Amino acid sequence: MPGIGILGGTFDPVHNGHIRHALEAADVLGLERVFLMPCAVPPHKARFIMPFGLRAAMLHAAVQGVAGLDVTEIESGLPVPSYTWHTLQAWRELPYGGEPPYFMMGMESFLMLESWFRWQELPRLSRLVVVSREGEGLQAFGAKLAELWPGSRRAAHVGGRSERAVLPDGGELFFVSVPRLDISSTDVRSRFLAGKPLAGLVHPGVESLLEANRGTAEACWGRASGA
Ligand code: ATP
Ligand code: MG
Repeated sequence: MPGIGILGGTFDPVHNGHIRHALEAADVLGLERVFLMPCAVPPHKARFIMPFGLRAAMLHAAVQGVAGLDVTEIESGLPVPSYTWHTLQAWRELPYGGEPPYFMMGMESFLMLESWFRWQELPRLSRLVVVSREGEGLQAFGAKLAELWPGSRRAAHVGGRSERAVLPDGGELFFVSVPRLDISSTDVRSRFLAGKPLAGLVHPGVESLLEANRGTAEACWGRASGA
């Protein structure tokens, strides 16, 4: 049965790199649909971010008309900070939550997995997918996997663009490598604050929403980080 993917992030704001990332990973894993999932309060970020409703509205604009992509606002109703463990528990109650979703994270996150709340249980609640830039990361993935779950078995997977690992208790973990566009939200924010156009970096609907909310964007992004 084709699976459902989740790509979590701050999405402050969503950009075309996120959209390509979701589509490429869906292609490699044969997923039916990927939900982009904005964090309510990201546990690992210490800076001012745009309000949840605005980040979610930009995500809806960005996926409009893109087959296979959707948005879930599930984290807006969960206790803060948004720990993935809570989110995946809540996911099980959704109409399509019966099968464990493919939960994607970047290599940077995987290397810090021990700092995640109840990390050992995440592969039972989801199929964890570690996504890296094409051609990179397989060695780091293997080393970290052996450290976190000694005794896991690695098996080749479809097309050489991904690998599947089976954990000692039967949970599954995937490694997927996808092309990565050279775009970041950090760069989009600084261009926007400098009054530069965002064409080609974000969906036109996202740029319109940002322009319509310039005051909010400047109030959030223009403040000193880490304060
Ligand atoms: P920031 O610059 O504020 O860190 P970001 O661009 O990294 O933001 P996030 O919301 O932090 O965006 O990212 C959400 C997810 O999307 C993460 O898993 C991240 O690795 C991935 N991602 C971010 N940018 C890209 C990109 N250009 N290509 C592919 N994946 C990306
Ligand atoms: Mg980032």
